[in-house]
Amino acid sequence: MRVDAKFDESDRVLPDVPEAPFWMVKSLEEMTQIEWESLCDGCGRCCLNKLEDWDTGEIVWTDVACRLLDCETCRCTDYANRSEQVPDCIPLTPQKVRELTWLPPTCAYRLVADGDPLYWWHPLVSGDPRTVHDAGVSVRGRVRDEAGMDVEEYADHVVSWPGEVVDAVADGHQRVAALSGRGD
Ligand code: SF4
Ligand code: SF4
Repeated sequence: MRVDAKFDESDRVLPDVPEAPFWMVKSLEEMTQIEWESLCDGCGRCCLNKLEDWDTGEIVWTDVACRLLDCETCRCTDYANRSEQVPDCIPLTPQKVRELTWLPPTCAYRLVADGDPLYWWHPLVSGDPRTVHDAGVSVRGRVRDEAGMDVEEYADHVVSWPGEVVDAVADGHQRVAALSGRGD
């Protein structure tokens, strides 16, 4: 095979290459506020109450949701004032994302901080805010409101699934297969 010596590199016509999405090319620190907010997949997992063993520092999840979490939409009902309303709510920052040991393994902030891709159910990937629920990743349908509960009761509500990803991935693919013909 011969190379055409008359070929001029400047004549090369390249196909349009789609720009990589912001979460693949920007660090958490480089994101705009809109990009940062859109990175939340709306799973609601981080809004579940957790229990910490004071002796060992071990943190476990409960299925008891913060009183401001809408357990159906899995969104905070007063996001702008969350810190005033719930003093122990921790607004995420790039530094917090790297420091907090309990962020769910499915959390998009954690994934980006670790250099991992977003999952298929993330609304930024799927283009559909419902997929985080369809995939069984969000807390919809499996948590209860903390209203009326004593903290002492939380120990009866310890769960492991918010800190797991394997089941969520497998379960999600099964659900999507089941939903593929739903037509909505
Ligand atoms: S765990 Fe992460 S992705 Fe899920 S609601 Fe919390 S901040 Fe958003
Ligand atoms: S105040 Fe809002 S953002 Fe904070 S934990 Fe509660 S529901 Fe989540």
